[in-house]
Amino acid sequence: MSVILVTGGAGYIGSHTVIELVKAGYDAVIFDNFSNSKPAVLERINRITGKHIPFMAGDIRSREQLEAVFSTYKIDGVINFAGLKAVGESVKKPLEYYDNNVSGARTLLSVMREFKCYNFIFSSSATVYGEPDSVPLTEESPVKRANCPYGQTKVDIEYMCQELQKAVPEFSMVLLRYFNPVGAHESGLIGEDPRGIPNNLMPYLTQVAVGRLPYLNIFGNDYPTPDGTCVRDYIHVVDLAKGHVAALNHCLNKSGTFIYNLGTGVGYSVLDMVKAFSKAIGRELPYKFAPRRAGDVVQCYADPAKAQRELGWKALKTLDEMAADSYNWQKNNPNGYDD
Ligand code: NAD
Ligand code: UDP
Repeated sequence: MSVILVTGGAGYIGSHTVIELVKAGYDAVIFDNFSNSKPAVLERINRITGKHIPFMAGDIRSREQLEAVFSTYKIDGVINFAGLKAVGESVKKPLEYYDNNVSGARTLLSVMREFKCYNFIFSSSATVYGEPDSVPLTEESPVKRANCPYGQTKVDIEYMCQELQKAVPEFSMVLLRYFNPVGAHESGLIGEDPRGIPNNLMPYLTQVAVGRLPYLNIFGNDYPTPDGTCVRDYIHVVDLAKGHVAALNHCLNKSGTFIYNLGTGVGYSVLDMVKAFSKAIGRELPYKFAPRRAGDVVQCYADPAKAQRELGWKALKTLDEMAADSYNWQKNNPNGYDD
């Protein structure tokens, strides 16, 4: 079976994807520098899969470290999750984001070309659509200049992949545009473990639920949406992980660039999320309305029809499952992997 290198495989989406890859019969090799994850996740992945998944510590900006991986294993394909992803931080540290994300992806692709490994899956984001002109978003919706360096690294890496594919047609470039991944593995052994106070809605909600934070601030309740709060397409991380397996199954060893939205196609508001979460924990979750957050997109949800049609993939898990699994993870691991 094919061997897949999972860069950033110790992170939130990467760890869930490794599990689904192994379940589907792929061999995975994890490569990570732990800049935003902890070694404890590796043992948890082994426990869930019942296998010892090979791991090599390293940074995708290091040609030597990548060459060591490609020399040790016969890698058939790469899924690149390795990247920095905090919008606010990227505004303060644009060079660090370009270096880590863009230079890292460039070095990785260059080593892949050197070793004649031509299957690449990239963690892109709905952020490449910017403030949408209309929803739902299809893969044909315009890609826009991003409003922060993080988002722009996604736009730039997508462009780099497309140009490289034209120059080296053997490449199968898969650009997966994630909507809002939430939830956790049903075992409660792995989940999202952000450093410091979370920026994103779901980890903030889970930390309020376990008493690490007093209440949720809802950023804005006067948006032109049904209840005045912003709308997003939240997708269970296990569905998202399965989307990578479906993309591999379909695109491995094909020549071309393949772009897919990975979302559910349903938009939920912040208040919908609070309601679902309150149901999961069996009590009202405390929240307050706060001013709008700068740069927030009003509404963003996918048209996921292309992924269903071409990959035979569809998100199946409900909003209640997303909330229940997120809570289960946080309840079992109130301090994340620091327990
Ligand atoms: P994460 O921070 O949990 O995982 C990223 C992993 O990559 C971490 O384990 C980190 O240590 C590692 N890493 C970072 N830079 C590295 C480098 N230079 N070399 C080696 N390892 C490195 O984030 P995540 O939520 O799992 O996201 C994975 C990818 O998906 C990211 O590229 C992110 O931008 C993208 N994405 C995430 C979301 C989201 O909401 N979580 C949405 C859209 C796209
Ligand atoms: N949000 C919020 N309070 C928080 C974090 C997020 O009200 O503490 C809102 C945010 O304004 C947005 C939605 O929740 O409307 C999703 O935010 P997140 O950062 O998770 O995702 P993104 O905006 O990047 O899609």
